[in-house]
Amino acid sequence: MSVLVTTAETLGAVPVTRLLKKCPRCGQYTMNPTVCPKCGEPVVSAHPPRFSIEDRYGKYRRQMKRALLAEQKQAKGDTAAG
Ligand SMILES: [Zn+2]
Repeated sequence: MSVLVTTAETLGAVPVTRLLKKCPRCGQYTMNPTVCPKCGEPVVSAHPPRFSIEDRYGKYRRQMKRALLAEQKQAKGDTAAG
């Protein structure tokens, strides 16, 4: 699988919006790097984690998914092999 990503980021520009933070509690956007000016809640980045084609956490995600599926099978009491 190959995905071509063309954003301002890949072009080397640092968008001003990178400085933008968002309050997870009230949804308020702020330039304050630490806390929400509205409710004092610690803010998080307003952007998703940097996209990586390598999908560094994919391995763990799939592991987790498999574990969950196995659990569900056990919960059903399904003893069928396969
Ligand atoms: Zn807030």
